[in-house]
Amino acid sequence: MIKTKKISLLIILIIFLNTCGIGQKRKGFPPERPKLVIGIIVDQMRYDFLYRYWDKYGDNGFKRLINKGTNCKDANFEYLFTQTSVGHATISTGSLPQYHGIVSNDWYVRLQEKNIYCVEDFDVQAVGCSSAEGQRSPKLLLTTNIGDELKLVSKKSKVIGIALKDRAAIFTAGHMADAAYWMEDKTGNWISSSYYIDSLPGWVRKFNDKKLQDLYLNRNWSTSLPIEQYTESLPDENKYEKGLLGQVTFPYNLVKMFKIYKSYSLLKSTPFGNTITKDFAIETIVSENLGQDDFTDILMLSFSSTDYIGHEFGPASVEIEDTYIRLDKELAHFLDFIEETIGKENTLVFLTADHGIVNIPDYLKDQGIPAGYFNQRKALSLLQSYLNALYGNGDWIKSYISGQIYLNHILIEDSKLSISEVQEKTANFMIQFTGVANAISGSSLEKGNFTHGVFASIQKGYNQKRSGDVIINLEPGWIHMTTSSTNHNSAYQYDAHVPLIWYGWKIKRGNILREISICDIAPTISNFLSISFPSGCTGNIIYELNE
Ligand code: ZN
Ligand code: ZN
Ligand code: ZN
Repeated sequence: MIKTKKISLLIILIIFLNTCGIGQKRKGFPPERPKLVIGIIVDQMRYDFLYRYWDKYGDNGFKRLINKGTNCKDANFEYLFTQTSVGHATISTGSLPQYHGIVSNDWYVRLQEKNIYCVEDFDVQAVGCSSAEGQRSPKLLLTTNIGDELKLVSKKSKVIGIALKDRAAIFTAGHMADAAYWMEDKTGNWISSSYYIDSLPGWVRKFNDKKLQDLYLNRNWSTSLPIEQYTESLPDENKYEKGLLGQVTFPYNLVKMFKIYKSYSLLKSTPFGNTITKDFAIETIVSENLGQDDFTDILMLSFSSTDYIGHEFGPASVEIEDTYIRLDKELAHFLDFIEETIGKENTLVFLTADHGIVNIPDYLKDQGIPAGYFNQRKALSLLQSYLNALYGNGDWIKSYISGQIYLNHILIEDSKLSISEVQEKTANFMIQFTGVANAISGSSLEKGNFTHGVFASIQKGYNQKRSGDVIINLEPGWIHMTTSSTNHNSAYQYDAHVPLIWYGWKIKRGNILREISICDIAPTISNFLSISFPSGCTGNIIYELNE
């Protein structure tokens, strides 16, 4: 009797729940885990760009993320060499260059006696092109990343990385990704490598066949607002910008310029490089059915044009302001698309950057701010003479890569000298140059642990096998001599402090003011997905997001 009563109660309950719609899939209610994680990385976006152009942004791009998401206002990179490959590897692995091994875009390999590029891999074949631009893989990334950890437990999850730059797409995608796609300079097509796939999927070929790259280059780049409204920037014409082919003022006639460039690297240096990246990302989501089932997918999407344009014109240019106004619109379109097709409640979005940028040093100098250009060529030739005088004539310096001096170990050993002594002599010599703030030897870095300060940031970026014998840190406002207008490669605020905003799924509106490391992104996602932290992870969960 009691048993029947229980059964009929259960039936009534089921009918009740069904009529109320409870227990059925309801729109707007976030699932236990997001169906899709989207990492948006804006190359060279400094934190202040969020607010510098605030009045020029629409309601549905950056403002939507900030107004409806959680803004980590003090998110920073912790190491010295803030470069694209290092930043992307750190974001996706939650690890430091010390462990993940991507110490710089390029480094010197002693055994091979040559510099190598962080994603080069001549054991793999190009896919979708015939040039070496496709011979790329993540094999030099030493730790797992967030996508790898997801794939290790959930083979049905898809992980894809997209960026104009190969190193950005590859390091965010990781070792086990379904694919990473980047753009070939020669054709403007999206390509990949045999590391991931044997041939381009039909939908990628179809996308390439549309030749949107030609459509976007068949126009002028003019300001999207009347030019007098760009009050946050220097005048369009100023003496600090190096520009595109020497041109520094709007409008940019891309048809004419392409005839000189003869390469789609031109497209990358315009805001339309970001447009085609967004177009391709949307096509990827549709064609790969991302976020459509209960196996969480990851899409890492990096916008690289901001970086190319920033190098050419600097962060105080009308060109970079217009690039962000346009990127804001792309972002709005992209987020609209996500919310219509997958749903905000099913999608966890984070937006960050791989590094920032310093104002053009000549401009800073004119404002009375200490800044300058370190002439590395001159310094190295003086160092060579100094080492010759000390130890006799020899090829003492093997390589110099933006702040890292690689000495000739074989010559040092053959000369019966101690490597650490030559390193110390080199460091003590280099520190004398104007613009050099610190020069420290590898052997000093290997002796102990620095807990804070500049040597700690150098150590976090120091990998014993890959880093130079002597590491040089320039003074604030100083950059290496370059053909660009300006650069990034320091641990100072302008290079290290970047946006980090979380949005969608269970994320509430709010601000986090305490200091956060970029290494905290990956473990925070691991926690949301209930998977392992990446193998070299040094970050912590951003616990406020769970409250
Ligand atoms: Zn970058
Ligand atoms: Zn200009
Ligand atoms: Zn850059």
